[in-house]
Amino acid sequence: MKTTFESLQLAPELLKVTQELGYACPTEIQALAIPPLIAGRDLIGKSKTGSGKTAAFALPLLQRVRLEQRRLQALILCPTRELAAQVRREIRTLGRGLSGLVVLELVGGQPARAQREALSRGAHIAVGTPGRVMDLLGSEALDPHTIRTLVLDEADRMLDMGFGPEVGRVVQRMPSQRQTVLFSATLPEEIETMSGAYQREAVRVEAASPEAAVPDIEQWKVYTPPDERFDALTHVLHRLPHASAIIFCNYKASVQQVTQRLKAAGVSADRLDGSLDQFHRDQVLSRFRAGSVKLLVATDVAGRGIDVAGLDLVVNYELPQQPEIYVHRIGRTGRAEASGVAVSLAVGPADARVTGVEELTGTPIRELPVERSPEPLRGLLEQLAGPAAMASILISGGRKDKVRPGDIVGALTGEAGGLQGSAIGKIEVLDRFSYVAVEHPLARLAVERLNQGRIKGKRFRATLTPSDA
Ligand code: ADP
Ligand code: MG
Repeated sequence: MKTTFESLQLAPELLKVTQELGYACPTEIQALAIPPLIAGRDLIGKSKTGSGKTAAFALPLLQRVRLEQRRLQALILCPTRELAAQVRREIRTLGRGLSGLVVLELVGGQPARAQREALSRGAHIAVGTPGRVMDLLGSEALDPHTIRTLVLDEADRMLDMGFGPEVGRVVQRMPSQRQTVLFSATLPEEIETMSGAYQREAVRVEAASPEAAVPDIEQWKVYTPPDERFDALTHVLHRLPHASAIIFCNYKASVQQVTQRLKAAGVSADRLDGSLDQFHRDQVLSRFRAGSVKLLVATDVAGRGIDVAGLDLVVNYELPQQPEIYVHRIGRTGRAEASGVAVSLAVGPADARVTGVEELTGTPIRELPVERSPEPLRGLLEQLAGPAAMASILISGGRKDKVRPGDIVGALTGEAGGLQGSAIGKIEVLDRFSYVAVEHPLARLAVERLNQGRIKGKRFRATLTPSDA
């Protein structure tokens, strides 16, 4: 019999949200991890990307949080700012029935001052990257004494990115009486060492599905000489209809080149790589999630863990050296029961990177024949081109200005705005900015109306986010 959320003894406020989110039942890792975490045990949890590890630790944290004590009770370390933002978003969503809950994001690339001030006002849960958290601990802006739970999320990735020593320094500052939780998609030797050093009598849980299993994802390979890769990509994009796709490259230079060539042909594409600052990364991701850009070209580090609902195609423009990375990449699609397609460009049947993946997953990857000759490439690209259905508008006010999604809808519709609600897409309210997606033909009108009108009685600046951000 499948475990239910009810049987996990979750508080009614939390149960209600899982229902509202349409979660029929806990994923395997959630069913295994939630009870010991609620009981306060240390835990090491392993399951593949996309299997719901965030809620596996977030629900118990929310269950245990003491709302009346507005002091830091849990700290979550994540490898990248994007992941920290995503985890924070999910905690806020799952915790929306808990009134007064404060969840902070402590990451680099944003002024530390605002974070210090937020900490001094008091918060229940903080999600951060190791570097910034260590800085805040060092300057005593972050007082660790009341922390009861420390979570190391995507622990393997933190090690890969060289955060091991930094994580160690953070752990050293935590109270010795604490719950330590470690989640990872893989459990290499170093994670076992971390567990031994930081945890006490940790419960070990692993989702039974093999880490490499990629059940609902259709996998294809396309053979192409390296210098015809871009042509092959064009054919793949053309051949496989998609609402949104991520194209993974191994190098920043490839990301930039591919993006440039797509854009030159008028195809709606953005790049996500380590050279973008935080503001532009947020902007790119927001545009992508809102559907105002169809293709995202990314490196692993920048694209890792990005959770985009409805992503239906992942292309490996360059296959990674390690097969595990392949599994992580294609796990972006086909999330939570949706189906997805993954296509890898390979040099030929002898490409060791393909055979490595096939060995790891135990499934042969089928060859997708692409016909190269009949149609001229330019024509294919032109067919892919054309504006995306939605445009993204950036508004200079956010949560700090008490702006809520409903206020933005209000400013755009009704007498002042004049737009139909159905022309408005996804709205994201960040701390100091918001994004709203609007049907392309109405974008200019919407910007005008937002600039003329008021939100919460205040004037904000609205701009169309440039497609070449
Ligand atoms: P992981 O950290 O294991 O890579 P995430 O926590 O990011 O995975 O979850 C992947 C997706 O699955 C998210 O979109 C999340 O909202 C969704 N999800 C989580 N738990 C459930 C559930 N019990 N049922 C359906 N979807 C879920
Ligand atoms: Mg995760």
